[in-house]
Amino acid sequence: MNHQRKNLSISIIGGGASCISLLHHLVLKTKKRPPFESLRVVIYEKKGSVGPGNAYQTDYADLLLNRDAKFMSIDNDHPEHFWEWLSQRPEITVRKEKFMPRSLFGLYLKDSFETSICRALEKNIHIRVEYSEVIQLIKAEKKYRLITKGREVEEHDVVILCIGNPHLKDHYHLSGQEQYIHNAYPLKRALAPITKDTHVGVIGSGLTAVDIAIALRQQGHEGAISFLSRSGELPAVRGPVQPHRLTNLTNESLRSLIKQKEDMISLRDFVRLLRKEFQDGEIHWRDILFTKQELKMNLRERLMNDLDQVEANGVKQSILAAINEVIEMFWRHLSKKDKQLYLERFDRYFQAKRNPMPVCNAKKILHLIEIGQLSVKAGLQYMGYYQDGSFYALMQDDEQLEFDWVINATGPVRHLEGQSEAGLIGAMLSKGYAIKNPWGGLETDFGTGALVDRNNQTDPHLRAIGHVTCGTYYYTSSLEMIAKHASCIAQDLVKWMDTSTSGGKRASLSV
Ligand SMILES: Cc1cc2nc3c(=O)[nH]c(=O)nc-3n(C[C@H](O)[C@H](O)[C@H](O)COP(=O)(O)OP(=O)(O)OC[C@H]3O[C@@H](n4cnc5c(N)ncnc54)[C@H](O)[C@@H]3O)c2cc1C
Repeated sequence: MNHQRKNLSISIIGGGASCISLLHHLVLKTKKRPPFESLRVVIYEKKGSVGPGNAYQTDYADLLLNRDAKFMSIDNDHPEHFWEWLSQRPEITVRKEKFMPRSLFGLYLKDSFETSICRALEKNIHIRVEYSEVIQLIKAEKKYRLITKGREVEEHDVVILCIGNPHLKDHYHLSGQEQYIHNAYPLKRALAPITKDTHVGVIGSGLTAVDIAIALRQQGHEGAISFLSRSGELPAVRGPVQPHRLTNLTNESLRSLIKQKEDMISLRDFVRLLRKEFQDGEIHWRDILFTKQELKMNLRERLMNDLDQVEANGVKQSILAAINEVIEMFWRHLSKKDKQLYLERFDRYFQAKRNPMPVCNAKKILHLIEIGQLSVKAGLQYMGYYQDGSFYALMQDDEQLEFDWVINATGPVRHLEGQSEAGLIGAMLSKGYAIKNPWGGLETDFGTGALVDRNNQTDPHLRAIGHVTCGTYYYTSSLEMIAKHASCIAQDLVKWMDTSTSGGKRASLSV
């Protein structure tokens, strides 16, 4: 990327939170007197608006952010960016609560986008939106030609994938059944056809399942709701999370361990440091998942206990949240054997503890359990359907359950397979512009977010942020991690712009 060039062009595929965060950093980091004559940024979005993406669409106001508003920000250097946006808007009456509606966060994203467009003009950056789906890329020298579903073609110097989670998995092949809802968001639209007195089966018992139960209740549902999953565990309840400074599990200690162990560390090494971190906080490390007492409780008792212990849980969760600082380095150097072991045995439980639900949601779920409307069933083995359009679930204990409606609430899958491998991703894989990462998503260069091609070469002209990079960075589905990667990529792009217009050598950043 070191040619003399004055008019540069960047395309961003996908207009959700990753795109907004990237634009925000790119515009802020570009110098007042930029090295280019003009920079064209084109955003391709297949839906009708740029900003909310899938997570923060207009929907029921009861659907809340799962993090304190003070820690939700598109700005990596400014965690209170959203909080300050809220406090400048006296018309927003919910501003004193810390768990805000997700659709409000969508407004913040739209507003931040508008702000970036205005700031960009001052630096001769021209941002344009194309409301169409990109289905193919064609590499032409050091550029990429983008082809949309409507057959439009445009060439860009750099392409950044911000496409979120490509597809949800249809675990039991229920798609096509009239009373099966595969993608639940926006819930207001997806749940509207469900009649009040029907029995609804929800596949999954995590945060999406919690959203579904709350939304059904809000639309006046009176019939039974059953969460069906393998573990039968609900998310933990979020306590007051405070910034926590890691003292044992630090980047330095990991670095020296990695050096000592010649690049590969084990899960045991990591747990040793994690244990010390918890011991310093006077928490027994085994209690991270469940205390002995909790293991003896039924689900309702555990939820009540979680609500009672919310302050103490906040201390644990503060440590777990602080691990975000080192999690990528840990994942990068974890041995293959232990990566496999971790994903198979521990990931599900660890994520449930790291992504808890707000207290007010936990109280609503407890209420639904107590009035007998909601049940949570463990040991789901299989789901099928009858000719009349209703469904059955086979459980591990040979119980068989029946439902009028079934809603998919399983989270994003790490591995690209089936539908996730179709469309743009499929086209890129078939051309060899990208390859699959064995731990999920696409193979990505750790330092720059550049994709790795079939010849194992990183291509700085083609990069990605978000879920498709989960194999490289492990934890990518939170705004905090997205903002961190967006900031690094923006910094690297600014360096590229400097060197590509001055003919100098390009430096590469470390994430
Ligand atoms: C329901 C839900 C709630 C969440 N709540 C939180 C939370 O409270 N806190 C938190 O930190 N994280 C939360 N997350 C995680 C969330 O995924 C990230 O915070 C973030 O929103 C991801 O943004 P994204 O832009 O990468 O993906 P998305 O929001 O999925 O946006 C991707 C966009 O790309 C578009 N697109 C995809 N492919 C193409 C194509 N080929 N051409 C054109 N356009 C395309 C899509 O239409 C979409 O608008 C939540 C996720 C979900 C699903």
